[in-house]
Amino acid sequence: MRADHAGRVTPQLLHLARDALLDALAVISPVECAGCGEPDRSLCAACRRQLVLRPTESTLPGGLLVTSALRYEGAVRRVILAFKESNRTDVAGALARTLEGVVREASAGPIDIVPVPTSRSAWRRRGYDPVALICDCAGLRPLRALVQTRSTRSQKTLGATERASNLAGSMAARRRLTGRKILLVDDVLTTGATLAEAERAARQAGAEIAGAVTLAFTPRYYGGERKSPVTSDEH
Ligand SMILES: [Zn+2]
Repeated sequence: MRADHAGRVTPQLLHLARDALLDALAVISPVECAGCGEPDRSLCAACRRQLVLRPTESTLPGGLLVTSALRYEGAVRRVILAFKESNRTDVAGALARTLEGVVREASAGPIDIVPVPTSRSAWRRRGYDPVALICDCAGLRPLRALVQTRSTRSQKTLGATERASNLAGSMAARRRLTGRKILLVDDVLTTGATLAEAERAARQAGAEIAGAVTLAFTPRYYGGERKSPVTSDEH
């Protein structure tokens, strides 16, 4: 591992070292890019550029302000799906950097980062909690304050109204959150039903809700307003 001229190991150098390590691992156990299938890289340069933060704000019907890092489409969608559904935890570091950026964008002052809990069935199926994992990777020290208190159906085939009733009352706080200001974190903003339920449970426990962030938003449901100019090419 290299260091800069002052002998410090900078984050940039850590990323370079990590990339070099991934390249070396790819020789031993072949991988393909989680975004486009290109061989030998966990994430190719083009797909990595697609993960550059482009914050977009959406307001849920209940008023919750959600800042999303990326649009859930193309390579972004494929990388997140690979991470969540195909055991591609090798991309957690790249997604964590994006998440860290959007959390920084959305939070001011002391705040607790509270991941939206995964359903028990999803946890059993995956063996990991995607949102908590990228929070950990991003060094966000998440406060795991919320839990699923009953099982819910998979949301994938449900519309907005069905999603809301499927989730209503399905979460609770593990403890009182009075006096805490929290930022909710989820992976993908679809209809907003999951975040609305997390907001309800946290509020009921006394938390002040500063807002929410997600890795990506689904353009079909939320047009959003971009907070800053596009910083890389869009496909
Ligand atoms: Zn790629």
